[in-house]
Formats: sequence, C-alpha cells, structure tokens
Amino acid sequence: MEKYDVIVVGAGPAGSTCASVTAIGGLSTLVLERDSYPGENKVCGGGLRAGLLDAFFVDKCVIEHEVRHITFFGSDGDYAKIDLLTSLGATVDRKKFDNWLAERAVKEGAELRTKTQVESIIMEGGKARGVVAKDLSTGKVYKAFGDVIVGADGIGSLVSGQAGFNHTLNEKNTALCFERDFVLPSSDINLLVGDSFEMYFDASRVPEGFGWVFPKKNVLTVGVGSLMSKMNLNIKDHFNLFLQDERVKKKIAGAKPLEPKSHTIYFGKPFDRIVKNNIILTGSAAGLVGPFLGEGIYYAMRSGELAGKQIVEANFSDTTLRPYEEKIKNEFYPFLNYALTLRKLLFKNENYNKFIKVLNMSGTVRKSFISHILKTSTPNLFERLILRIWLI
Ligand SMILES: Cc1cc2nc3c(=O)[nH]c(=O)nc-3n(C[C@H](O)[C@H](O)[C@H](O)COP(=O)(O)OP(=O)(O)OC[C@H]3O[C@@H](n4cnc5c(N)ncnc54)[C@H](O)[C@@H]3O)c2cc1C
Repeated sequence: MEKYDVIVVGAGPAGSTCASVTAIGGLSTLVLERDSYPGENKVCGGGLRAGLLDAFFVDKCVIEHEVRHITFFGSDGDYAKIDLLTSLGATVDRKKFDNWLAERAVKEGAELRTKTQVESIIMEGGKARGVVAKDLSTGKVYKAFGDVIVGADGIGSLVSGQAGFNHTLNEKNTALCFERDFVLPSSDINLLVGDSFEMYFDASRVPEGFGWVFPKKNVLTVGVGSLMSKMNLNIKDHFNLFLQDERVKKKIAGAKPLEPKSHTIYFGKPFDRIVKNNIILTGSAAGLVGPFLGEGIYYAMRSGELAGKQIVEANFSDTTLRPYEEKIKNEFYPFLNYALTLRKLLFKNENYNKFIKVLNMSGTVRKSFISHILKTSTPNLFERLILRIWLI
C-alpha cells in the first residue's frame, strides 16, 4: 500500500509551493499532475505582481520580461500609467514557470508524478484517507493513501467537489477568457509596450471584464476575460472586437499569431469553507483570484505556502488544519472583497474613465491605489480613493 503524509493534487503554483514547504518540513509528499509536465496546458497572462519574485525566491531565469508599470486604458482614449513602486513585477511563460516551481519541490524532496489524473478521493469514517489516481500513460488505476489531501487542482476542482464544499460555479461568478500570443521581435515589444502590464477597459468590446496586453520575450500575450452572464457575443467575438481597438491593433500589426486558447477564471465572492475532513484547498481551487484584475498566481503561491506550514504544524488533524482557513480569511478576504466592489463599480465605461482621471490627479492617489493592489494599504484608505471618483 502506498502511503504518504501529504498528497497534493495539481502541480500549479499552489500545489508546488505547498509541496516544497511540506517536503522541507520533513513530510513525505506526493504531487499528482495530469499534464505531461506542469504548466503544459496553462492559459494565463503570466503577470507576476511586484514583490512576488523576492517573496518566493523565484529564480530570474524564468522571467520573460521585467515589468515596472501597470497602464490602465479607458474607453475614451485616456490612460493612467502607474509605477509599481518598490519592487519589480514580471511576466513568465507558465510552461517554464510551473515546471520550475515543480522541479524545486522535487529538489526539496517531494515526489512528482505527471500524466496522473486523480479520479476520486477515498473517504473513511468521514475523513479523506487518499486518492484514486489513473496513470494516463498506461491506463492503470491505483490507490495512494495520505493523511492530508491538498486540493491544488485549479478552478472547478475535483477535490473540492468530491469533498462536498458546494462551491458553485455559475455564469454570474465565472468569467470566460480567450487569449492568444503574437510573435514579435523583442525590440518591437520594448518599443510598443515597454515594461508595462496593459489593462484595457471598454464595456462595448468586453462587457464586465477587460482586455490585456502583456509583454514577454518574443511574444505579446493578448487576451480578454468577461463575466459569462454579461457576454452578449461568444468570447472569441469579444476578443476580435478587442483586437479592433486601434491601440491594440497597431501593437500586433504584422505579428504572427499563435494558437488561441480559452479558459475560465473565478470572479465571485470568496468561499466560506476551504478546510474540511483533512482536505485543504489552495489557489484557484479555493477561489483565490482577485475579481478586479484576475490576478491569481500570488494568491495561489501564498495560500500554498500557508497550507504547507499549517500541515507541518498540524500533525494531520482536521481541527489543527482549520487555522489555515482563518489565516486566508484575514490575509486575503478584505482585499478580495474590495476587488469585487471595484469590479462592480468600475466595470462601466463612465465610471472607469472617471477612475482613470482620478488616478491621474496625483501621485498620492496612484500610490495608494497601487499599495492597495499590492496589499500594503488598508481597505479604508482605498475606500476613500474610490469615493473621490464620485467627487469629481
Ligand atoms: C486567461 C487567464 C489569464 C490569467 N492571467 C493571470 C496573470 O497574468 N497573473 C496572475 O497572477 N494570474 C492570472 N490568471 C490566474 C492564474 O492563472 C490562476 O489563478 C493560477 O494558475 C492558479 O494557480 P493554482 O496552482 O491554484 O491552479 P492551476 O494553475 O490551475 O493548476 C492546477 C493544476 O492541477 C492540475 N489538475 C487539475 N485537475 C487535476 C486532477 N484531477 N488530477 C491531477 N491534476 C489535476 C492541472 O493540470 C493544473 O496543472 C489568469 C487566468 C486565466 C484563465
């Protein structure tokens, strides 16, 4: 019988970060990933917030492009370019980034099995005791036992569903995204986009959502995401409308488009419960994505880290895993809730264009906004900034 202290389902940023921590903590850790290698099928802008590289000791070899600004473009032609302040942001190629994180977990002592799909959770006496997994190369189905099961299997998590968390995804809390890379010489990328995450808000092209242009080494990653209940076309048509925006059009003129990809992202309220019966949810499986900018990599890694630490401390009992839930609620939920408020207020052209004007009013306003995004200011300070939108 195969028996581990911890079984992690999914080798994304949440799973691999968690596995590194539990392996360093001396726990036998098995990571199961259905893709041939971590990151193989990721659809993602690959934008890393300022500070993430340092916080998680990420090697600069995985960086595609250094980023120092975020530029918000409105529907009226105006824009606000904001300095990321203290530390560097970056873009990464998720194929390389996720693989690097998983390799680090393996170096720390975790065991990684790729091409392995978890099919169900084994429950005994109301507790999770292991998983049923399928080796996708041979078709062999087998059981692996573990004292704690970590759900790091992304949006629509099988682990969450099997554990009965009842985290319903529907068209009112889920956005559909469509993304395509455009190949360009790096000199053109530097000239056209430079060191900025570009975010475009124009509800006539992308309702209740946004478009983005992120610079990488040799590609511009261009995408749109729109709340499913507000889409009036299919997502590909919203993407094509976005490409008609003159500011975007001129950036990709003459560039070679690669295969388009589509994926969903959670855009709703933070979940109530993320720990249950020796199962602990992390990252997107726990709904940890900012519903204003769609940022999830930082939340995935930080929640993976907190989950790993809690498991090492907990001695595998459900009640001693529970403080993880409180830590996530205290650390993230005020910001996720404000991101939701922001989305509701600002994803309307008139308000969004006002928001850009407010950002352009003063350096203090820009600083307090970016501090909020980087989670260093309190929501109260940020709330005052939002109020100013209605005062001009
Ligand atoms: C279009 C798009 C653009 C985005 N852009 C950004 C961005 O620029 N910056 C940012 O911070 N965030 C971005 N995000 C969000 C970000 O991609 C996610 O929040 C992040 O990947 C979550 O990490 P995770 O480890 O929780 O899950 P994931 O990265 O989704 O990893 C889950 C892993 O589990 C594996 N898996 C799933 N089910 C099983 C199973 N049954 N058995 C075995 N393995 C399984 C999957 O193959 C996958 O490798 C974007 C999302 C989308 C859709």
